[in-house]
Amino acid sequence: MPDFLDEAQLALQEQADALGRRLAEIDAGPDYSQQLRTEIRDLSKEAGIFSLTQPLEYGGLSGTSMDLTIARDALGRWNVGHLPGLFGPSPGLLGQASAELKDAFLDRYLAGEISGGFGFTEPSDAERHTWARYDGEDLIVNGAKSYVTGGSDADFINTLVELEEVGPAMILIESNRAGVSVNRRFSSIDGSHHASFIFTDVRVPKTHLIGKPGTGLSRAMQQVNSVRMAIAADCVGLSRFVCELIADHLKHSERDHDKGHATRIQFGHMRTQAFAARSSTYRTARLIDAGENSVNEVMASKILATETIAALVDAAIQIVGGEALVESHPLTSIFRRVRATRLAEGPTDVLHANISRGYLDLDLGRI
Ligand SMILES: Cc1cc2nc3c(=O)[nH]c(=O)nc-3n(C[C@H](O)[C@H](O)[C@H](O)COP(=O)(O)OP(=O)(O)OC[C@H]3O[C@@H](n4cnc5c(N)ncnc54)[C@H](O)[C@@H]3O)c2cc1C
Repeated sequence: MPDFLDEAQLALQEQADALGRRLAEIDAGPDYSQQLRTEIRDLSKEAGIFSLTQPLEYGGLSGTSMDLTIARDALGRWNVGHLPGLFGPSPGLLGQASAELKDAFLDRYLAGEISGGFGFTEPSDAERHTWARYDGEDLIVNGAKSYVTGGSDADFINTLVELEEVGPAMILIESNRAGVSVNRRFSSIDGSHHASFIFTDVRVPKTHLIGKPGTGLSRAMQQVNSVRMAIAADCVGLSRFVCELIADHLKHSERDHDKGHATRIQFGHMRTQAFAARSSTYRTARLIDAGENSVNEVMASKILATETIAALVDAAIQIVGGEALVESHPLTSIFRRVRATRLAEGPTDVLHANISRGYLDLDLGRI
């Protein structure tokens, strides 16, 4: 496909494609054994994919947004992008932390010895956003976070708080600190695990602030943007997987009984939607790598990619029929997994409202 990729990018696409093909042969049930996780990680390391998310100074490849889009798209195309261990832990917000905080956490985090969560979403009935106040050399944190992926096993939560008289700030809070409690553990439709947290007078040294206090929201948004791009790239790959599955189905079923013109038109519509979402995601990756402000484009690509895969998988199930709803059918598990993507990292309506606000109220953004 003419994606206007340079030689190195084409080589990466081939590597990721070969890894996807290899992983598609593995029969991974819903609960991934430790042995399987290790096997996937080793194959990904061998293929040069694992380290794309890790910084050069930590022995990684520091992949660009385009590199990551290419890799995730290629893996999604084989319906394997969700497998655990494909990508190494990336520093995320910790990459912007003080040297002291990095020394204490980053090495062990990148080595996979400790894990972290992201505390952003608040309970809908919270009277006040999670807040913090200075107390000498410490901060005292109170509030709650309702949906922390991997929160049950996380050693720390990078938490967005409202720092009194300063503004939004990100703070690293260890989950074993006095006053931190988990009030709910749950799993969601896509099979991922989460926890909700309550913070009651949690005392944290002020060195646990990530970056300058007051810049917390924009720091959190940088993290959210890179996850939005990861979701978009996986969804455009999955859209190709679904299109290929339906093409195969139509080629075989049309011989037996003519499904007719209507299904062909529907298939053409699916391919067109997949093309639009993919084109947008690649264009946005290029903008990010060029250092352009891409916040609106990231939102638009995340919307297009997630809404497209949702529409495609639904239409594909309808075309294939009841067999597509058998538990072992790939469309069933894709249907489950992609449902969450239209809410996670910002619901579609909220992102649409933000794009409008940027253009109408703030005079920002190109789209
Ligand atoms: C699989 C998964 C993983 C997640 N992981 C994390 C995580 O690690 N950390 C974290 O902090 N959060 C996480 N979340 C939470 C996620 O970010 C929220 O679910 C999401 O932001 C929506 O917030 P909400 O659930 O409170 O719903 P609400 O914000 O209440 O939205 C509900 C509905 O109201 C509409 N709505 C709300 N506000 C507006 C508006 N201003 N304009 C128009 N419509 C609006 C929305 O479109 C939506 O239909 C995760 C969610 C999922 C599904």
